[in-house]
This record gives sequence, C-alpha cells and structure tokens, in this order.
Amino acid sequence: MDFRSQFLITNSSDKLNLSTTSTAMDLGMEEKEILKVLKKNRKELAELQEKIYAERRRGVLIVFQAMDAAGKDSTIREVFTGLNPQGTGFYSFKSPSKEELSHDFLWRCNKCLPPKGNINVFNRSHYEETLVVRVHPEYLMGQSLPDISAPTDATQSFWDGRFEMINDWEERMAKNGITVIKFFLNVGLDEQKNRFLRRLNKPDKNWKFNFGDLKERALWGDYMSAYADMIPKTSTSKAPWYVIPADDKPTMRMVISEIVKDTLKDMNPEYPKASADFELEKIEALRILG
Ligand code: ATP
Ligand code: MG
Repeated sequence: MDFRSQFLITNSSDKLNLSTTSTAMDLGMEEKEILKVLKKNRKELAELQEKIYAERRRGVLIVFQAMDAAGKDSTIREVFTGLNPQGTGFYSFKSPSKEELSHDFLWRCNKCLPPKGNINVFNRSHYEETLVVRVHPEYLMGQSLPDISAPTDATQSFWDGRFEMINDWEERMAKNGITVIKFFLNVGLDEQKNRFLRRLNKPDKNWKFNFGDLKERALWGDYMSAYADMIPKTSTSKAPWYVIPADDKPTMRMVISEIVKDTLKDMNPEYPKASADFELEKIEALRILG
C-alpha cells in the first residue's frame, strides 16, 4: 500500500483547498484487518527503531498538527506504543512561556530535536507559530519582534518569511542526518462537534473537554486558510507534509503507521558491523567465561 504518494502534499501542489479535501477515507478494509496491519507495523517500527538506535548516525523527527479533538494524542499512543522509550522522545508544545517568548520562535523546538539514534515526536510544533499565531496575530505582541508593532503589521510577507525560516531550519536538519515527516490530521467540522459532544456527555471523557476549544472552533475557516497556505509552502522533499483524513481513527492510525514504516525502511538502517577487535575480544571473552 503506497500511502505516501496518496496523501503527500508537494511544494508544487496547486493551492491546497481544505474545504474540498476529504476528511474521511474508505479503503474497503474491515476494521479487524486495519487493526491487524497496525499491529504488524508496530513490530516493524520497533525493529527499525532498534537499528537506528544501534547505528547512532541519524535521527527522525515526526510532527503532528491538527485541530482540537482530531486524535493526535491517541494516534501517537497507538502508532508508537511498541517503541523502546530509550531512543524515543515525545514533546508537546503549548502556549509559550515568558522565557520561550524571549527567544526566537524556533528556540524551544530546536532543543527537542532528536539526538543521533533517536526518533522524536512533536505533538504540535513550531508550525503553531504560523497557525494559532496567524489566526490570533495579537499573540505576536508578546514576541517583541523588530518590525511588528501592531497585529496588522503581520502581512503575507511576514508569514512567508516564517515559512522560509522553517524551511531553512528543516533543511539544516536533513543535512545533519535527521529525517523529517509531518502529518496534518484532517478532521471534519461535523466530526469535531461529535467528539466534543462525546466529551461532554460521557463522564469518563469530561476531563478532555476544554471550553476554550469552542472559541477556536468558531475560527475554523481562519485556521483552514492558515493550514492551506502553510502546508504546500513548507512541504519539501526532505520534510514532506501528509494530509491524512482523520474522521475514522483506526484507518488514520494505520495509514500513518504505514507512512512512518515506509520512510524508516527507506533509511535502510543496519546494525553496526563488529570491529576487527571484536573477534579477538570474543575469543578472549569466551576463554575467560570458560
Ligand atoms: P488536547 O487534544 O488534549 O486538547 P492540545 O494539543 O490541544 O491537546 P492543549 O493544552 O489543549 O493541548 O492546547 C495547547 C494549546 O497551545 C493549543 O491551543 C495551541 O494552539 C497552543 N499553542 C501551541 N503553541 C503555541 C504558540 N507557539 N503560541 C501560542 N499558542 C500555542
Ligand atoms: Mg486542546
């Protein structure tokens, strides 16, 4: 199943229109079969991770962006549950702290990049700086930026400048051996409503409900415009964006696990070869151990 070409948004894509991009997909597979593939992929991912960790030459960064209740948390849990915590890093990015605001917008994310041998996952990311901040340009006032003294100063060229900075930064990652994969979980407006209602109506889901999410839901169109501008402009061959229909969680998770698995396979990780010294050490060690 080649899901990469199916869900990839390329840099040269015509303008992305999220209002006509499907949030549901029917692969014609039964749920039992979908779960079986996911389970198999978890095992494969664990094996690939072990090799990447043993090599200690390269890293992997996997970015998740989505509207509220699209299923980021549970997808991360279900796809990466088989990975060894040693060699994996999970980071979520919320409203920046005072200290974070006193640095440039990539600073806090830069600190969370994978060291060689690691797979790191971002639950929200530096892209929030072109999404929530674009929808609420007043947030820029807290960033003390040279050419911004009012929210209206943030014109298209300001956001294009941010895309360029992000592209440069991700290119630097690629040159340093970090493979980057980015997912936008594309949930529908109706499905988000269903999920909010479930959070309100099911006692064991109440804790997930955040009244503030309704404020962002009311700005849905603004968010979709921000995503639609950002995704094609920051999708590069070394750091591609995949837009995954998110209304059906099991299918979405399986598709993501396939894309991650295929990308890691292409890295062709291998266990390091034993050194010449090892053979001598082995003879000596076997002698000592009797
Ligand atoms: P959940 O699905 O559990 O609600 P979440 O990722 O929405 O998870 P929250 O704590 O609800 O987590 O929200 C984090 C909030 O922080 C989001 O609304 C997000 O837009 C906001 N945020 C993240 N990065 C920035 C940023 N750079 N500037 C301003 N707000 C940000
Ligand atoms: Mg939230």
